[in-house]
Amino acid sequence: MLSPIQIQKHTTYAHTRYSHIWNMYMGALELGLLPNPASIPANKLIPPSLDCHYTKTQYLGRFHAREWKVEINLAYYVVMQDKEQLDDTIAHELAHSLQWKLCPQFKDWHGKEFRQIMAAIGYKGRATVSTPYRTKDKVAAVAKAAKDIQLLSLL
Ligand SMILES: [Zn+2]
Repeated sequence: MLSPIQIQKHTTYAHTRYSHIWNMYMGALELGLLPNPASIPANKLIPPSLDCHYTKTQYLGRFHAREWKVEINLAYYVVMQDKEQLDDTIAHELAHSLQWKLCPQFKDWHGKEFRQIMAAIGYKGRATVSTPYRTKDKVAAVAKAAKDIQLLSLL
């Protein structure tokens, strides 16, 4: 079972990567590498707040435009320990937020603009996460981790 210290470590790590990836996007925006039909300068953008969750629900990340918030499901990270996947998820959700601000006319959540934004910092811009994350064993392990962590939070 995970200790509260381990959970805190994962959460801190996710926040560090989140700031880093946001800064990479802002650098790309300043260099004119992001689609920006709304012509918004980098200093007018505020990163969405980050909520780290641990849930058995099968999502790795979510973007909420109205609340200007990104949720990352760290239960997956706890189980897989896959740093590249965590970065990919963060880059994916932040790309949604940038598409929302910079390309308000976008038609498809995972369309042309979304892929351009992801590509500007070297990501592929897939619509969904690769299948190794969805095997029966992995899903069960994620559910167990999420449950353990909820029990821990009651102590
Ligand atoms: Zn998406």
